[in-house]
Amino acid sequence: MAGLLFGTGGVPHSSETRTTIDGIKRIAELGLGCMELEFVRGVRMGEAGARLVADTAARELVKLSAHAPYFINFNAHESEKIRASQGRLLQTARVASLCGAESVVFHAAFYLGDPPDKAYDTVKNYLGEVLDRLKKENNQVWIRPELMGKPSQFGTLEEILDLCTELEGVAPCIDFAHYHARTGELNSYREFAFVLSRIEKRLGRAALDNMHIHASGIAYGKKGEQKHLDLEESDFQYVEFIKALRDYDVKGLLICESPSLEGDALLLQTTYNSLLNRGNAG
Ligand SMILES: [Zn+2]
Repeated sequence: MAGLLFGTGGVPHSSETRTTIDGIKRIAELGLGCMELEFVRGVRMGEAGARLVADTAARELVKLSAHAPYFINFNAHESEKIRASQGRLLQTARVASLCGAESVVFHAAFYLGDPPDKAYDTVKNYLGEVLDRLKKENNQVWIRPELMGKPSQFGTLEEILDLCTELEGVAPCIDFAHYHARTGELNSYREFAFVLSRIEKRLGRAALDNMHIHASGIAYGKKGEQKHLDLEESDFQYVEFIKALRDYDVKGLLICESPSLEGDALLLQTTYNSLLNRGNAG
C-alpha cells in the first residue's frame, strides 16, 4: 500500500449522495485513498451506522479519520464548557473507533487572553482526563490536536508537539495551510522541510511514518486564517510542499480541505506520484 494516502475532508462533491457510505465509494472510484468524517457540527451517527461505515471502508480499501465538533475549548473558563468539550471529544472518539477510523482531529482551545503557558497546562490537564477514559475503554484511536490558523487559537507547532511528548495516545495533526496563515511564512521547501525535521527530532521517525496532514490553499491577513481557497487560486507552494513530503518519506493521511475537495486532493496526489516516478527514473 502507498505510504501516503490522499483524500478529502468530508464527502466528495461528485459523490452520488451526501451520505458517508456514498462518499467512501466515490473516494475509491476516484482512486483516492482516504476520507475524513466531518463531525464538525456534532456527532450524529449511531452504532449501526458506524458499523456500516466501517464495513464499507474496509471493502473499498479507504482509510478513515474523524474531525471532532468545532465547539470544543479545553481552556474554557466555565467548568460546564470544559465538561461539554470533553464529552464531544469522547463521543467522537467512540464513534470513530466503531467506524474503523484510526485518528480523531480536534481544535483544542482558544487562549481567551490567558498566557500561552497557562493555557497549555489547562489543555493538557483536561485532555489528559479524556485520554484516561479512552484508555479504560480500550479505545485505540489517535487523538490529534490540530495546528491552528489564528493567533487567538491555541495550537502552535511547538504546543502541539509538547502535548504529543507529554500525553500518551496523542499525535499531531499538522495543517500546513493554517501554519502558513498564522505566520505568513512556511511557504517554501526549506520551511516545509524544517517542520518535518522538527517533528522527527521531537517525536522520532515513527511520527513521520504515522502523519496526519491537512492541506489547502488559504487566504489570510493580520489575524491569520480568513478562508480556504483552491490551491491554484492561492499562493501556497504546493509542489514544494509535496517535494518535502516525498523527500522525508512521510506516511499517513493527507486530507485536502480546499473548496474543490477532490479536485485538489487529486492534484496533490498526481503531483506526488509524478515526483515519485521521476525519482525512480533518475
Ligand atoms: Zn480542523
